[in-house]
Amino acid sequence: MTYLRRKEFLPFSRPMIGQEEIEELVDSINSGWITTGPKSARFEEELQRYNGIPHCLAMNSATTAQEITLQALELKQGDEVITTPMTWASTLNTIILQGGVPVLVDIDHKTMNIDVTKIETAITSRTVGIIPIHLTGLPAQMTAIWEIAEKHGLWVIEDAAQAMGAHYMDKKIGSNHRSVMTVFSFHANKNLTTGEGGCIAVHEEKYVNQIKRLRFHGIEKDAWKRFAKDGSPHTEVVEPGRKANFMDIQAAIGLHQINRLDAFNERRGVLFKRYLEGLKDIDGLLLPWEGDSVHRHCYHLFVLRIRPEIIGRDRDAFVQALKDENIGTGIHYRPVHIHAFYRDYYAQNPNALPSDGLPECEWSGERLMSLPLWPGLLEDDQDQVMTAIRQVAKQA
Ligand SMILES: *Cc1c(COP(=O)(O)O)cnc(C)c1O
Repeated sequence: MTYLRRKEFLPFSRPMIGQEEIEELVDSINSGWITTGPKSARFEEELQRYNGIPHCLAMNSATTAQEITLQALELKQGDEVITTPMTWASTLNTIILQGGVPVLVDIDHKTMNIDVTKIETAITSRTVGIIPIHLTGLPAQMTAIWEIAEKHGLWVIEDAAQAMGAHYMDKKIGSNHRSVMTVFSFHANKNLTTGEGGCIAVHEEKYVNQIKRLRFHGIEKDAWKRFAKDGSPHTEVVEPGRKANFMDIQAAIGLHQINRLDAFNERRGVLFKRYLEGLKDIDGLLLPWEGDSVHRHCYHLFVLRIRPEIIGRDRDAFVQALKDENIGTGIHYRPVHIHAFYRDYYAQNPNALPSDGLPECEWSGERLMSLPLWPGLLEDDQDQVMTAIRQVAKQA
């Protein structure tokens, strides 16, 4: 039985690509220059201006950006990096691919970000850094993280894939130099999208040229300068790098997205608060924390956790019941350590897990789901989502 009889499926996220993006894209295509070039350079300047960070280096994804940060920081075989498994798999995959060991710390029940009271016990003589995630767009407790890192001589890389436009203590995420680098994503679901894409925000000059090389074959110069009229035709590979450069056809979209990002985030905030208000009296739902003046959300995801013992069905059944109503949801995330590869990996590396396990990650991982949230979501559609949730919760 369904309640709403929605004719169209409502996805949990949709990119907001407008006429300006389309015209800029056509302009790029007509110009004959579609890969890395002047628009990519302009987009990087806009990222720097928006975020208040001296260098933002764009590339093909946040995942590759994460690999490059670890390469630039010379992560070595066996080096340990502290993070949480309540994230996208790339946070851990990139550490493993670089030869490191992701050492896992549980999350905080309220925020679902890293539990800062549990970081210090995870530090060993092999620990080199900490990667906190600003999950759902809610900043992690950075002051505590920086203090621990500084006390133990560790670097901090922020996984801000979901957090462009969020603020920590009145400053944009990534703009505090106490984190050596910050990674943002422009994947299609993110608050600012270029289809695919990402960037590394960095404060220290010394990393800039190396990151530019590592995103393009390890070549010393930007290719577009090489082929431009006044460039040198010679190339020089100084270390093996990746093919991870950012394209002007991506920048064409990004240049207009960034102008609209504050308005997007504001609208997301309105919808986020409507969900909080509209769902607050339903038993068995644990609604997300909306942040405070220190942790200012950018409302990337609205993740609620259901209590099956009250609701009468588990999360997957709940998700399916909403799907039957033509309402899409997401799961952010199934904890990384329970994926097939990582089950084996941690069975072989038990010291990389806390001795008391990851109960909060597992508790939340089984109960969480993301509701439809994007700036163009209509109030009527959102009301239908809330009606469906109310009905599904009541019926069970
Ligand atoms: C999206 C996301 C990534 C990966 O970003 P890509 O640009 O798709 O590579 C990494 N970490 C988190 C927390 C994310 O949400």
